[in-house]
Amino acid sequence: MKLIDGKKLAADLRREIAEKTAKLKAARGITPGLAVILVGDNPASVSYVTAKEKACAEAGMLSREIRMPATATEEELLGAIAALNADDAIHGILVQLPLPKGFDEKKVINSIAPEKDVDGFTPVNVGRMLIGEPCFLPCTPHGILKLIEFSGMETAGRHAVVIGRSNIVGKPVAALLSRKEANATVTVCHTGTPDVGAFTRQADIVVVAAGRPGTLTGDMLKPGAVVIDVGVNRIPDATRPKGFRLVGDADFDSCAKVASAITPVPGGVGPMTITMLLWNTLESASRT
Ligand code: NAP
Repeated sequence: MKLIDGKKLAADLRREIAEKTAKLKAARGITPGLAVILVGDNPASVSYVTAKEKACAEAGMLSREIRMPATATEEELLGAIAALNADDAIHGILVQLPLPKGFDEKKVINSIAPEKDVDGFTPVNVGRMLIGEPCFLPCTPHGILKLIEFSGMETAGRHAVVIGRSNIVGKPVAALLSRKEANATVTVCHTGTPDVGAFTRQADIVVVAAGRPGTLTGDMLKPGAVVIDVGVNRIPDATRPKGFRLVGDADFDSCAKVASAITPVPGGVGPMTITMLLWNTLESASRT
């Protein structure tokens, strides 16, 4: 069984991104700039934003953090986005989700200029992805495709089962895997699927993004399948300094006995998400 090392793949790609960033600066005097807007002080969001800014700086990019209190108005947030849309030093804009209660997330995301939507969440980007036009691919799904490629598993002609149909993971992963470039046959399972195992047992590739530990177990896999575990779940654990540990949606031990390759949690999909954000920011800056 092969462990699909997301940290290593992410490190390799970040080195490549840093080299291309340096070349862009030298050749055209352009420094890719990413603006990250954080509203409120949700601890998980603060740590995600900090990690994104650190990665940005390490790649030689400009990172601009805009912090607003949870009491900020939607007009203030929309105003900040409008200013960034018009700012030539900024090539990517990211609004850290979830927003505090009272904000209309759809309206806020829709206000990001599609050419700076490096998260790939605006309806314009999602539409372009679906009809195969140039766009920013959403970061987690794009990272998942890279991890499948890294595992050595061909997607063309294979059966991929995606567990979960959220707008940020399940649906775009299913869409990307069924594009001509990947050419997989895709089944999407969700809570309305009576027997998820009946589908996963036929799958060469299983992507599990349910947000529930133990959603996928070894007895639900075909021998040799590749498993991409997107889930990030906190399990109380008194032996850990923070009082919890992170687990994925797959039961790692039983799945590892049957799968040919599996991503660990942490250290699988997580590091790839930020990497693909840097990738999109560089691409955006290169287009200017
Ligand atoms: P979400 O919006 O809660 O969606 C979960 C999906 O899984 C839903 O479509 C749900 O079905 C389905 N589902 C839940 N339990 C299921 C079960 N037992 N069997 C079959 N389907 C089931 O979650 P999300 O935003 O996609 O995130 C999924 C997980 O990935 C979370 O743990 C999240 O933290 C993690 N995540 C990680 C990264 C990363 O970078 N590592 C990025 C994004 C998300 P219904 O539609 O029927 O409710």
